[in-house]
Order: sequence, then C-alpha cells, then structure tokens
Amino acid sequence: MFDLNDIVEMKKPHACGANRWQIIRVGADIKIQCTQCQHIVMMSRRDFTRKMKKVLEKAADSE
Ligand SMILES: [Zn+2]
Repeated sequence: MFDLNDIVEMKKPHACGANRWQIIRVGADIKIQCTQCQHIVMMSRRDFTRKMKKVLEKAADSE
C-alpha cells in the first residue's frame, strides 16, 4: 500500500536519471514529484498501481 508523502520507486526511471518520487497527492488521481528535478507527474490510481515498483520510504510508520 502507498500513502501521501511516501517515497516510491517506479518501474521506469525518470528522464533525469533519478528513480525516487514523492507522492504529493492521493485521490482519484495520483500526483508524484521527482525528488531530483521536482518534475510532477499526474496519473490515474490504476496507472500508478501498475507503474509503481515499490515503496522506498513510508512517510509515517505509525502502524
Ligand atoms: Zn526527474
């Protein structure tokens, strides 16, 4: 599972060479921001689930 502010890795690295994205919006659409070049990508939740490889860092480890 993923949550707002988590850091994730995608199956395809960004064009800038980095593969570390922060989830900055979760809703019907998901917005992620490249942590290196600050580029923002928006995609549907279904696309995101398909393209995300793994969660690198949880924003909150409360559970
Ligand atoms: Zn980038």
